[in-house]
Amino acid sequence: MIAYFDLQRLPLRYNGPMTLHHDLHSHSLASDGTLSPAALVARARAAGVDVLALTDHDSLDGLAEADSAAREQGLRLVPGVEISVTWSKQTIHVLGLQVDRHCPELQAGLRSLQAFRDWRAEEIGRRLAKAGIEGGFEAARGLAQGRIVSRTHFARFLVERGHAATMREVFKRYLVNNKPGYVPGQWASLEDALGWIQAAGGLAVLAHPARYRLSASKLRRLLGEFREGGGVGMEVVSGSHSRDEALTMAALSRTTPLLASRGSDFHGPENPWVELGRLQELPPGCHPLWESELWLPRAA
Ligand code: AMP
Ligand code: MN
Ligand code: MN
Ligand code: MN
Repeated sequence: MIAYFDLQRLPLRYNGPMTLHHDLHSHSLASDGTLSPAALVARARAAGVDVLALTDHDSLDGLAEADSAAREQGLRLVPGVEISVTWSKQTIHVLGLQVDRHCPELQAGLRSLQAFRDWRAEEIGRRLAKAGIEGGFEAARGLAQGRIVSRTHFARFLVERGHAATMREVFKRYLVNNKPGYVPGQWASLEDALGWIQAAGGLAVLAHPARYRLSASKLRRLLGEFREGGGVGMEVVSGSHSRDEALTMAALSRTTPLLASRGSDFHGPENPWVELGRLQELPPGCHPLWESELWLPRAA
């Protein structure tokens, strides 16, 4: 308990990378992770994480539980969300960190994405049925347990049914563009997502920019538009970036400029290659988000 209160009172100038381990991107059962928010916090604490952001896809539902677990266990929880965005006909992910989960504008925005998810899930089910695979919608909805339905839930069902051996394989064969279970559609616009995050007093951080496989010039355009629209940071070190990609992203964070963030994108212990508490440090020359004056602690 003492550790928790000391952490909360630390003046920001002492809140640097040398003292605290930050992991600012993770998932729980509230979206497509496999741990409850409390179990996620416990695992992060045990792995040596001091500051953890819970950033479920298009949902704030895990934050209350994560916050009480964090208070009990002496970890600082950053209330967050990972918003699905369509930019230039492509899906990208925008993190809102330090968001007020009670903000009506953010909640309404996420409700519209959840409604699209519900419709899309039924449509994925219909398309899989056409390809001869029955019961996908019901199974995915069952796995989601009343929370948001993600392609990940369909992937787990398809693997269980033996349609592919691994999650990676099942996505490739069924759940990406031009495959039987892929449904195109519109997520939030970048402008809307940035507006909701700002309304909730949060900081917008572009998630795993190297994963979108954009050309160098298109990535620079995205980063520029993101910053123009009020985005403040980008993930440099990510569970889905290689070391080389982290170096490239570090250089882009300096030239754009955007503050640098670091997050595992942990979804559960089933994916041991992305673990909590095992991220490399930000490359030299980055300006860490958590050393910025914008980084003010907020209670979840
Ligand atoms: P959705 O937001 O419902 O379209 O689902 C996207 C989620 O699927 C991502 O957040 C990842 O967790 C997961 N995902 C996407 N591609 C893959 C892949 N190739 N292998 C495993 N999981 C993936
Ligand atoms: Mn996911
Ligand atoms: Mn993502
Ligand atoms: Mn994520």
